[in-house]
Amino acid sequence: MQLARLPRVRLAPLPTPLEEAPRLRHALGGGRGGPRVLVKRDDLTGLGMGGNKVRKLEFHLGDALAQGCDVLVTTGAIQSNHCRVTAAAACRAGLEAVLILRPGEPQDVQGNLLLDRVFGARIRIAPGPTSASVEAAVAEEMDALRREGRRPYLVPKGASTALGAAAYVEAYMEMLGQTTTMGAVVDAIVFCTGSGGTHAGLLAGAVLCQSGVEVVGISDGASRAELAPIVTSLINDVAETLDVAIRVAPEAVIVLEDYGGTYGVPTPECLDAIRLAARTEGLLLDPVYTGKAMAGLADLVRRGRWREDQTVVFWHTGGQPALFAHARALEGPE
Ligand SMILES: *Cc1c(COP(=O)(O)O)cnc(C)c1O
Repeated sequence: MQLARLPRVRLAPLPTPLEEAPRLRHALGGGRGGPRVLVKRDDLTGLGMGGNKVRKLEFHLGDALAQGCDVLVTTGAIQSNHCRVTAAAACRAGLEAVLILRPGEPQDVQGNLLLDRVFGARIRIAPGPTSASVEAAVAEEMDALRREGRRPYLVPKGASTALGAAAYVEAYMEMLGQTTTMGAVVDAIVFCTGSGGTHAGLLAGAVLCQSGVEVVGISDGASRAELAPIVTSLINDVAETLDVAIRVAPEAVIVLEDYGGTYGVPTPECLDAIRLAARTEGLLLDPVYTGKAMAGLADLVRRGRWREDQTVVFWHTGGQPALFAHARALEGPE
């Protein structure tokens, strides 16, 4: 595997912790006893309040610097964690960041949008929410920067590229090493999937290690029909980048659609899951991704998907700054 040869800038203190969550396990299992629950703390990747984008950006920033680029350009929702971490990564390397944000969510200067400003990113709101409109604004910005003599580096949405997926192949192996040390055998990983890079990396890692671990993506609102082919195509790309022979059929990609609702809008079950994790373990989830993933885990445990002697890793991908942008939804005492 050619991972060590990829240009990289270290941004995250690795490995991130893998923590036991006994009180959460008990609460999820109710009277029936659910599987052992371990939490992989990729919310603790450090840079700019962390999350899964930090691992992915280590390789993108390495690539940008190797190419002599001087400004990072990327895109995402108004409350994008990816844009916030890209802005922080640019600061770390002495580059500028330009963020093209997709309109649609409230534009209060709160949460990630506030942090984008603190990091000094140049923020531009795309004229419309469609991908065509956002892509046109990105292309315009790239051209304008080149005309000014700048060397822009485009980080695709969510940093979900072969490089981003490669970071999660490595993360998978990191987790496997930790569970081996603990004497635990993992049966499943549950996490929130959105632009597909995390999913592709974790699934590629599981296939590479022939570990038989079930890789369960809970959708952030995207449909399975849309996501599964993105994940398989990213797996092909990362296999090529790492020079390994793996292939995954779209049917083998697990994307559960029942917990995402509308992207960026927390469901009642998501809000309950945020309170549950907070009140059992002091663990903060987020209202757009990890709260939905936990709502999914809760439902799957309730339905008896795993036995008491099995182990599930809940992969915490971060996102907590968005809590503050959703204060209204969370202020109630429930
Ligand atoms: C981006 C993001 C995800 C989804 O990861 P993808 O690799 O884009 O699928 C999940 N959780 C959080 C907190 C994120 O910011």
